[in-house]
Amino acid sequence: MRLFRSSEILGIARDTLEFALEASEETHPNEYMGFLRAEDARKLGLEKEGQVITDVLVIPGTKSDPMSATVQTNMVPNDIKAVGSVHSHPNGVLRPSNADLGTFHKGDVHIIIGAPYDWGDWRVFDSNGDPRSIDVLDVDLPEETFFDFTQEDIDEELS
Ligand SMILES: [Zn+2]
Repeated sequence: MRLFRSSEILGIARDTLEFALEASEETHPNEYMGFLRAEDARKLGLEKEGQVITDVLVIPGTKSDPMSATVQTNMVPNDIKAVGSVHSHPNGVLRPSNADLGTFHKGDVHIIIGAPYDWGDWRVFDSNGDPRSIDVLDVDLPEETFFDFTQEDIDEELS
């Protein structure tokens, strides 16, 4: 029940951030673009209310060039439950563009990663495009983060 979940974003899992930095580097000179998904902190063993970003979902068919990335909106799942977005700036500028500001209203956390994609080459912004901070957390990611299905899905498939 979404209604009863705390929407506070405590931070991002270190592995997830490293993954996004690597993916941005691999996508260079084009932009990398994905949506951020989060897990309840308690599920990750943290004794805190809130959510931790654990996953980057790249929408199939996303097209990108050095200045922009275009998401096929008809490919975005209805149940995406994204808490924000991540995208890269191959020109290394760690500020939202005017086009970015037009999309940031969806979600609370927006990460911009800039070339050369080293640790620290990223900034976080809120839905207004103002800088905000999030912690990088050392947590063990649940297995379902890496495989896009759960045991329930498998059971349903087999029944
Ligand atoms: Zn941008």
